[in-house]
Amino acid sequence: MVDDVELKHLRRCVELAAKALEAGDEPFGSVLVAGDGEVLAEDRNRVAGGDKTRHPEFELARWAAANMTSDERAMATVFTSGEHCPMCAAAHGWVGLGRIVYATSSQRLVAWLTELGVSASPVRPLPIQEIVPGVKVEGPVPELADQVRALHHRSHAKSKDPARQA
Ligand SMILES: [Zn+2]
Repeated sequence: MVDDVELKHLRRCVELAAKALEAGDEPFGSVLVAGDGEVLAEDRNRVAGGDKTRHPEFELARWAAANMTSDERAMATVFTSGEHCPMCAAAHGWVGLGRIVYATSSQRLVAWLTELGVSASPVRPLPIQEIVPGVKVEGPVPELADQVRALHHRSHAKSKDPARQA
């Protein structure tokens, strides 16, 4: 279960996901919060330029490695609109970050994308715990599911734009 403060961080993640979508990127956003509750960094997906590794959770893991001590990283929490993919989960584990709280699961995302006729991703959508068994993970948070689903629907509608299919 997440409390009101955590829900606020997750709502910010969804807001960042919406900004990503507006910018032509994929709708994902994440926030890094210190053990004392201070918001340290946030980012959104930036894959439109062609680098498909520009996921916000990956950027935040590298930011944490560059700017935080290992103790600070262990106490921190990463909030994110969609569960970490295996690449980002591994980065999170390698830099020794603490808890993860996600709004919607990878499993749910796959179901939505299948429903939208989007082809499978080249990376298997394994749950975070299969990649980083030691990390505490919280999610999904049902009250945000509709909003996140709507973003993925809009994202797909854009990619079906005839001008971009040609
Ligand atoms: Zn990722």
